[in-house]
Amino acid sequence: MTSNEIKALTGQYIMQTYGRFPMAIDHGQGATLYDPEGNAYIDFTSGIGVTSLGYGNEPWAEAIAAQSKKLGHVSNLFYTEPPALLAQKLCQRTGESCVFFANGGGEANEGMIKLARKYSFDKYGSGRATIITLKNSFHGRTITTLTATGQDVFHNYFFPFTEGFRYAAANDLASLEAAAGDDVCAVMVELVQGEGGVLPLEQDYVQAVAALCREKDWLLLVDEVQTGVGRTGSLFAFQQYGVLPDVVSFAKGIAGGLPMSGILANEKCRDVLGPGMHATTFGANPVCAAAALAVQDVLTDEFLQQVKEKGDYLRAAIEDLHLPCFGKTRGLGLMIGIAVADGYTNKDIAQKLIANGLLVLTAGPGMRLLPPLTITKEEMDQGIAIMKKTLG
Ligand SMILES: *Cc1c(COP(=O)(O)O)cnc(C)c1O
Repeated sequence: MTSNEIKALTGQYIMQTYGRFPMAIDHGQGATLYDPEGNAYIDFTSGIGVTSLGYGNEPWAEAIAAQSKKLGHVSNLFYTEPPALLAQKLCQRTGESCVFFANGGGEANEGMIKLARKYSFDKYGSGRATIITLKNSFHGRTITTLTATGQDVFHNYFFPFTEGFRYAAANDLASLEAAAGDDVCAVMVELVQGEGGVLPLEQDYVQAVAALCREKDWLLLVDEVQTGVGRTGSLFAFQQYGVLPDVVSFAKGIAGGLPMSGILANEKCRDVLGPGMHATTFGANPVCAAAALAVQDVLTDEFLQQVKEKGDYLRAAIEDLHLPCFGKTRGLGLMIGIAVADGYTNKDIAQKLIANGLLVLTAGPGMRLLPPLTITKEEMDQGIAIMKKTLG
């Protein structure tokens, strides 16, 4: 089918819930995507932080093919090998104690919220169920994770929302202390606010939040749906902040493009959710787990160091262009934000870049770049050249 045929069919039969760019994608190789007409695009988006190994990665595709021929699904009523191996690997590499596997980021965060409330209920009884989240955060699209999301624009239409959330300003300990109370059971943060605009939390602040959580016996919940699995140059971003979350969620990049998510819990929280309290039919799917193991094989410590170096290289190259529409860059590893100068809008800039063969994302009022972690220097340089030509 041509791009126009795909667009027409989509417009007629798929619910119009997405503001899409006016193009179809057919296939990819490395960090380059192609539309049905064969036009090439350098990809600085990774399908919103998902395709961390880029496109056409052979070991990843082979792991999926082999596992799907062997066993595609059998339910969590039976034991299977791939999720067991994956959970072991994730725990060994993070210092966490055990895993619950789910399918998407919002669903993983729901599990994290349930665990926090149950932990508190078991220990203190009812009335201690409030979770403090940060302004400008994003935690998902379910009714409860919309409430957890600290942005008023998400608190519309779908009333009534779930009770039990309060919001504090990011990087502001006094604001968190002001939101405290006897009804609180947990604090939930993204270490780099992704959808909100690629805004990293400060190290001192995060350590102070962790200390306050210990003092009050609040659980520290970290949403690493976007920052996790190598994106920031460590397996999880919390490893660069010197804290061990009580529970941490992951999703987007975990299986390199297949739907999978989960939460990792520390020793204190490993037995909070028992049989019958939490479940999901597709969770721990063996094909997704096999894909995730292939991702883990690539994300060695040496590779993660290269992710940091690539991020530094890309940010320096962008700042060196001195484009009139861009301000400073920020971020961690290959999670990069670019401020947009007054008089320009991120949507216009994204549209122009895409029309010239470079796919980028927006976040908050700025630009957001999430290239495949495997992107090569040549592909980054091609992207930079398109920025220069288009926006210079
Ligand atoms: C994308 C994202 C989510 C939601 O994940 P879904 O898979 O879309 O449900 C939650 N939290 C953060 C930080 C995200 O970036």
